[in-house]
Amino acid sequence: MRAMYRTTAKLRSGLVTMGDLRLPYLEALGIDVWRERGAAAETIPVAARVARDDRGPAAKVAHDPGLAAGISDEIVATLDWDALRAAVSTCTRCSLHASRKQTVFGVGDINARLLVVGEAPGADEDRIGEPFVGRAGQLLNAMLRAIGLARESVFIANILKCRPPGNRDPKTEESQACSRFLNRQIALLQPQAVLALGRISAQWLLRSELPVGRLRGQMQTLDPWGLPLVVSYHPAYLLRSPAAKARAWQDLLLVRELLNRD
Ligand code: SF4
Repeated sequence: MRAMYRTTAKLRSGLVTMGDLRLPYLEALGIDVWRERGAAAETIPVAARVARDDRGPAAKVAHDPGLAAGISDEIVATLDWDALRAAVSTCTRCSLHASRKQTVFGVGDINARLLVVGEAPGADEDRIGEPFVGRAGQLLNAMLRAIGLARESVFIANILKCRPPGNRDPKTEESQACSRFLNRQIALLQPQAVLALGRISAQWLLRSELPVGRLRGQMQTLDPWGLPLVVSYHPAYLLRSPAAKARAWQDLLLVRELLNRD
């Protein structure tokens, strides 16, 4: 199943036709496209044409902001890692693109067994382009090390790929607009477990309004993938509330238990 997600993305017969406005996007992404020729259809070897081009499909997306802004959720759900990263880097789907310094795609091992999901980039993340940096990031690294995981061995991402101004909470419409990217990351990664850090991440992923204190401490399920998910406190909260670290440790032990399962 994992291998299937990592093969070059293809759309199946009937999804697009020659007259479809999405055709340029699909071709630039290196997605094989079915074209109608009378009653019959043939596969256009887009991958072969892209291979002859100096720029790969991801670079084409990165060089054409309109490409990423215009692609549909269905196409995002077919992208490989490189094309997905390029699509995020040029996304203008919600208003946050206007104030960001750069997008924050996520970082780590694309074969990771653990996916860590936070809320949104802060000022440091916006500047550096990586999630969970600064003091909160250092604490996250220490938390991971405590259960035998190097930061480089997991994948770390946020619900939002762009920083909300003033570090305000994400708006629902922003999370909705951006979730297609996280959804694709989850589908590509197929992790063994997910760790949701903080209220925003936990409530969004679980479609719940319960506080972190009610969601943590037990195994939850991330649908529609059916993945085991553990909720814990955001490291930034733990820096402000050290007394919660003992409960966070219990959550980490639960993550370790999930990762040790066959
Ligand atoms: Fe696009 Fe997400 Fe950034 Fe909004 S937050 S512009 S949807 S990448």
